[in-house]
Amino acid sequence: MNKVENVLVVAAGKAINELTCGAAQIGSRVTLVYAGARDSAMNSDKAYYLGDRPFFSCGPAAAKLALAEKPQLVLLDSSKDSLLVASHIAAAFGTSVQTNTASILVGDGIITDKLVYGGAAVKTEKSSGAAVVCVSPGVFSQGAANAVADISDVLCEGDERIKVLETRAKAASSVNLSLAKKIVGVGRGLADEEALKMCRSFAESIGAELGCTRPICEERSWMEKERYIGVSGAVVQPECYIAVGISGQVQHIVGINKSGTIIAIDKNEAAPIFKSCDYGIVGDLHKIVPQLQQLIEE
Ligand SMILES: Cc1cc2nc3c(=O)[nH]c(=O)nc-3n(C[C@H](O)[C@H](O)[C@H](O)COP(=O)(O)OP(=O)(O)OC[C@H]3O[C@@H](n4cnc5c(N)ncnc54)[C@H](O)[C@@H]3O)c2cc1C
Repeated sequence: MNKVENVLVVAAGKAINELTCGAAQIGSRVTLVYAGARDSAMNSDKAYYLGDRPFFSCGPAAAKLALAEKPQLVLLDSSKDSLLVASHIAAAFGTSVQTNTASILVGDGIITDKLVYGGAAVKTEKSSGAAVVCVSPGVFSQGAANAVADISDVLCEGDERIKVLETRAKAASSVNLSLAKKIVGVGRGLADEEALKMCRSFAESIGAELGCTRPICEERSWMEKERYIGVSGAVVQPECYIAVGISGQVQHIVGINKSGTIIAIDKNEAAPIFKSCDYGIVGDLHKIVPQLQQLIEE
């Protein structure tokens, strides 16, 4: 793969690992600008520490460092805070932020793909100057965390015009589907919450996380938002994905198509999921799932 000379990662917290690992594949040199815990720097030739401050307020300082570092590519994740920071950096370079990026290639410039029209199409963009790119979750894999020898503390003011007034706790979600090795994904084919219980028990019996399609969260409110997979939810890449009662619309498939093996259970043999899976079982999920579980337990 072609590489650029310098990739600047601007991040805080958990995003640092994924982004620095990804940056190493794209750039000969990786420079990190980060906030939060000072010891969270990793996998970079050089790092600038902005202090333990809210990440969203780091835009002006990150933009100054970006101008000084002259990277060909600035990488951030797609969180709301990162979008704010990215906007400062892009303005400093006189360019726009490329959001929700699904892949990055170095060719004649930086070439990025993003999903548009709810995932039904892919839009390819090329930047000829410095590119400021926010990547979707799961685009890069997590890797080892190698310590950084060269860390500079940057004494700078954040964006003081925005202040945090209050932070309220939200019901904690214990799930990070992008790290799961096995996922059982459930869809609207489940008749009721008893069927959901049955699928949860099946998932537990094979050591899998439970994921779902968007309507399961947004229409039925059966699961928290962190568990829905697809273009507007999580992008996952487990070794095995078992789709149960999921028709296989493109908006869901783009979230699972990097999985190792895809197994689908659906009663409609013409369901599009059967075009995207490695193994398909046609039949009533309410009968097949308990049978599978029994077979596995035996
Ligand atoms: C802008 C936009 C963004 C979107 N983003 C996402 C996204 O990120 N993720 C996402 O998932 N969706 C997303 N959607 C929604 C998406 O288009 C589909 O509507 C959704 O994925 C369908 O969910 P489903 O497969 O659970 O339901 P359905 O399409 O209704 O499929 C249910 C399936 O269950 C089968 N079935 C029914 N009964 C049984 C039974 N007893 N046994 C076995 N099989 C049975 C049916 O044959 C059918 O194939 C988005 C839509 C839009 C417009």
